Amino acid sequence: MLQSVEGQTLVGMELADLRKLLGPEQPTYRAQQLYDALYRKQVADLSEATALPKTVRNQILALTTMGLPSAERRFDSRDGTRRYLLRLEDNRTVEAVLMPEEDRDTICISSQVGCPVDCKFCLTALMGLERNLSAGEIVGQVMYVARENGLKAIDTRMNVVMMGMGEPLLNLDNVLKATRLLTDPDGIGMSAKRITVSTSGIVPKIEELGREHFRPKLAISLNATTEEQRRQLMPITRKYHLRDLMEACRAYPLRAWEKLTFEYVLLRNVNDTEADAKRVVRLLSHLNCKVNLIALNPGPGIPFETPDPDRVANFQAIVRRSLPCFVRKPRGRDIYAACGQLKRVSTDLVQVDQ
Ligand code: SAH
Ligand code: SF4
Repeated sequence: MLQSVEGQTLVGMELADLRKLLGPEQPTYRAQQLYDALYRKQVADLSEATALPKTVRNQILALTTMGLPSAERRFDSRDGTRRYLLRLEDNRTVEAVLMPEEDRDTICISSQVGCPVDCKFCLTALMGLERNLSAGEIVGQVMYVARENGLKAIDTRMNVVMMGMGEPLLNLDNVLKATRLLTDPDGIGMSAKRITVSTSGIVPKIEELGREHFRPKLAISLNATTEEQRRQLMPITRKYHLRDLMEACRAYPLRAWEKLTFEYVLLRNVNDTEADAKRVVRLLSHLNCKVNLIALNPGPGIPFETPDPDRVANFQAIVRRSLPCFVRKPRGRDIYAACGQLKRVSTDLVQVDQ
């Protein structure tokens, strides 16, 4: 008899979960065979898991489903970026974005449906939180986009960033389980060096993440350099003060190969002055980190403007004197795929046949 697994789908189960599902009557290698089919071979359907007897496959399917997402729509940008609207088993949808570049492919995935953190410059914030994604739904986005585009997880070209919809550290257990599944050499086999999680600054969860053995790299959305301005732009700062956030960053146990990344969204005439740039340096220059500047990607209902390119260049020049500092290229703005634009916008867009 197979054991009940309370609403879990196959994709998202670790070996121990699969052992529990198969129960004590099955030989122990069965769970390993199933794990191998799901994550190393990445079968689209359990019928392709031919190492398992058909009777066992049927028993499994009587209890649970694969749980891979399906594409509701795909939008192709002029710059090669692809935005997927992925349908989950409860018919909700999330976004995943592929950004191909010359030397790397980056898959940007979501961690929640919507987001409860109310950042004033972000389109996803307008949705509020609908629900957390399961570990399987997080991993499933990577598996889906990689398969659709012929990407290999073990290839060092492939990177995953949890910078889509949602605040990953408010769904930390599932994010960590997804990370273990993505990085298991017996399964999907990605390197943890190529997975990044981005947070708005949930201080106790940063500390928790630092204690984990299997964890992605950490990026922090700084976006403002004073308590007051950060409170205005990112009201979560009322609960998790900038001072405490910086303290958690100082105490964060970086691995030998690791640097922190700070993201800073530039809002015209709001946080893009020379004084802001100097405060960024003062806050960060003693940390082992780099800074990614993002000129605001505008959107309907966002009460800010994008700074002129020379203003962005000036900001970068100041920070660069003390720290590695890059300007993130806007990707897929024409299909609302760029940072902070992920809110199921689908009007006026051309649907690409799949
Ligand atoms: N919730 C997490 C991860 C998703 S947001 C976080 O906030 O870090 C990913 C990045 O997009 C963050 O750095 C955020 O500051 C940035 N962002 C949000 N809205 C944006 C916008 N309209 N233009 C440019 N970047 C934006
Ligand atoms: Fe949520 Fe990040 Fe958007 Fe803030 S920037 S609302 S944390 S997705």
